[in-house]
Amino acid sequence: MEKTLSIIKPDAVKKNVIGKIIDRFESNGLRVAAIKKIQLSRADAEAFYAVHKERPFFGELVEFMISGPVVVSVLEGENAVAKNRELMGATDPKEAAPGTIRADFAESIDANAVHGSDSLENAEKEIAFFFAQREIL
Ligand code: ATP
Ligand code: MG
Repeated sequence: MEKTLSIIKPDAVKKNVIGKIIDRFESNGLRVAAIKKIQLSRADAEAFYAVHKERPFFGELVEFMISGPVVVSVLEGENAVAKNRELMGATDPKEAAPGTIRADFAESIDANAVHGSDSLENAEKEIAFFFAQREIL
């Protein structure tokens, strides 16, 4: 069993498709172990995406992530990290496989509906960034 961190980004929250996205997880062997809706501060977004701070799109990425509330969750299941990435689809929705979350709900590489941890090591760090141990059940 693995745990991974998912974020439903501001574009998808604005589109009112939180439930449809969570259904993709639950229908594909992932269980919601923790969940909350929050407004990220600029400091939160900069810290969360610190690995990308030298990239040309960092400023836009931070602006986008604080443009409205997000839904952060911990998903648990067999191979949860890879399974979530598979359900999400490619970073650029134009390249995302049909039937993936980004193909179905995302507009652009900036507004791409969801985030998912890219490794078990990052999943542990990202889960600890958002949740206390007693919130993960
Ligand atoms: P995420 O980390 O959000 O799950 P990802 O792992 O698929 O997405 P990363 O390479 O980690 O992709 O990039 C983080 C985020 O930065 C992407 O989700 C996207 O919104 C944005 N991003 C990545 N590449 C570009 C780009 N070339 N132009 C604009 N935005 C980009
Ligand atoms: Mg990433």
